[in-house]
Amino acid sequence: MSDQRTPTQTLDAVVVGAGFAGLYMLHRLRQLGFSARVIEAGSGAGGTWFWNRYPGARVDIESMQYSYQFSEELQQEWQWSERYAPQAELLAYINHVVERFDLARDIQFNTRVVSAVFDQAGSRWQVTTDGDDRFSARFCIMATGCLSAANKPDIKGIDSFKGPTYHTGEWPHDGVDFTGKRVGIIGTGSSAIQAIPEIARQAAHLTVFQRTPTFSVPARNAPLDPEYVANVKQNYAALRKTAKQQFVAFDTKANERAATDMSAEEIKVELERRWAMGGLNFYGGFADLLVNQHTNDMVADFVREKIAQKVKNPATAALLTPKVIFACKRLCADTDYFETYNRDNVLLVDISTTPIAEIASEGLTVADKAYAFDALVFATGFDAMTGSLNKIDIRGSGGNTLKEKWSAGPRTYLGLCSAGFPNLFTISGPGSPSVFTNMVTSIEQHVEYIGDIIAYMGKHKLSAIDATKEAEDAWVDHVNEVAGGTLVNSCSSWYLGANIPGKQRVFMPYIGGFPPYVEKCNEVAKNGYEGFALK
Ligand code: FAD
Ligand code: NAP
Repeated sequence: MSDQRTPTQTLDAVVVGAGFAGLYMLHRLRQLGFSARVIEAGSGAGGTWFWNRYPGARVDIESMQYSYQFSEELQQEWQWSERYAPQAELLAYINHVVERFDLARDIQFNTRVVSAVFDQAGSRWQVTTDGDDRFSARFCIMATGCLSAANKPDIKGIDSFKGPTYHTGEWPHDGVDFTGKRVGIIGTGSSAIQAIPEIARQAAHLTVFQRTPTFSVPARNAPLDPEYVANVKQNYAALRKTAKQQFVAFDTKANERAATDMSAEEIKVELERRWAMGGLNFYGGFADLLVNQHTNDMVADFVREKIAQKVKNPATAALLTPKVIFACKRLCADTDYFETYNRDNVLLVDISTTPIAEIASEGLTVADKAYAFDALVFATGFDAMTGSLNKIDIRGSGGNTLKEKWSAGPRTYLGLCSAGFPNLFTISGPGSPSVFTNMVTSIEQHVEYIGDIIAYMGKHKLSAIDATKEAEDAWVDHVNEVAGGTLVNSCSSWYLGANIPGKQRVFMPYIGGFPPYVEKCNEVAKNGYEGFALK
């Protein structure tokens, strides 16, 4: 019988995902003279900014910083319009990058990678897709995203609602008109905090179902001042350098002093100054914010007080006030989030102790109270860090699956490689600083590091690279130890996988900061890629 399947395409590398990570990886591989193909499930490039088109979606790290820096021409020519670019502008930027660097000819859209199997004899990855394509590549690079597998909650009757339902991470491309509609939204994380004020302005009525209140600081978004832009562009190299020296890889004008070394008056001034600066600059207020309980309580209380000042109804304000550690869950930056609850057409329903019982054709019930809607929005987040990887059948040496290996929590060396899976790289994988940083900067560091490894292997005629078990164990211990020394290890966040029922609770990202991480990576490279077995 003849083989009817598509012929196997042979490449140096297959890259999975066409977000910031996959696109730059393709460009870098091409620069180094390697053949590569990007496989992307969506119908266009952009990753996060392709999928998350909900009203209000925008970046919360300043766009002059949340952008590529690998090309001086690109960062000089692109004009951001606002301090925090909205989703459409980010997507336009990414499409500009695709065009500018002629990337589209090596991207295959509308195609999902379903398996990646390592052929030990030939040291090659055999990659297959839902479209029956087959690739054979020396390297397989997972640029599948930390926040790209939408989490639909497991609520009884979820499919019985007769109106439209939307997940913020899979928003319709032609938008949604909520005019005159009764809308229900489940979730109050970063996505909801951006969507709620916008939906409330349009809908006839909005009911917010909140399981956990969230700390949020005002973003203070505004059109960019041309003088500021010109100044940044003149000094871009210096700004990028300063940013890379900071824990979060963006310039928060970090205060290097711990609150414990400051007077009460100095602390008060710093808190008000950070509040006025807006956005995630708030992280940079005190060096001991995430490690000292007293400092954290003080910052938390300051924000709690601000919430009480913003929300007119004291009962609603109390419900909106987080009780957990400040920044234990990802800090949000909002525009009029708390003020939205002062509107007559917005109702907050606390589901912290009594969860949603059931979704039915007309709406949903909490205890014995029924809420009727025309549309339902799930702002319920993602199966973060491992979700998209675990959906792919990844088999390494000896046929072992990554999913099985990671069943008690992900294990990587530097967030880049997992022992037993030679020549497989993850960009901003678990165990890397990723979500604790400006992710575009972290992505660039990973892409360049992976590119260097691949070039090194070519130069030294090496066929395979694999993390050693010892190096991986030591890195995982270090990641856990660092997390254990902070306050963020203690709450039910997606950093720990706690948002997904049944997921192992393991602190997944590396919270040691961007500069020490880069230093470690550079030292590993300088020592001939110590901790990796090279063949
Ligand atoms: P993604 O952009 O997630 O791209 C991954 C791509 O891989 C997706 O397009 C997906 O379709 C594709 N893919 C996955 N699995 C497969 C498969 N099996 N086959 C084929 N294709 C596949 N970070 C910040 O630093 N600052 C911010 O302000 C910020 N805001 C955010 C706002 C939202 C709404 C969200 C969800 C995330 C935000 N992030 C932010 C994190 C954001 O994910 C990163 O900044 C960055 O965009 C990640 O890029 P990426 O290329 O690694 O992954
Ligand atoms: P998220 O932070 O995980 O928030 C999900 C929300 O849904 C939480 O309030 C959660 O409650 C709730 N939820 C989940 N399952 C539920 C259930 N079964 N019943 C009731 N409530 C449920 O997700 P997200 O808001 O999409 O944000 C994810 C991450 O993406 C962010 O942390 C951030 O890194 C990034 N992001 C950034 C921006 C930005 O401003 N640039 C915007 C959006 C997203 P619990 O808290 O109780 O679990």
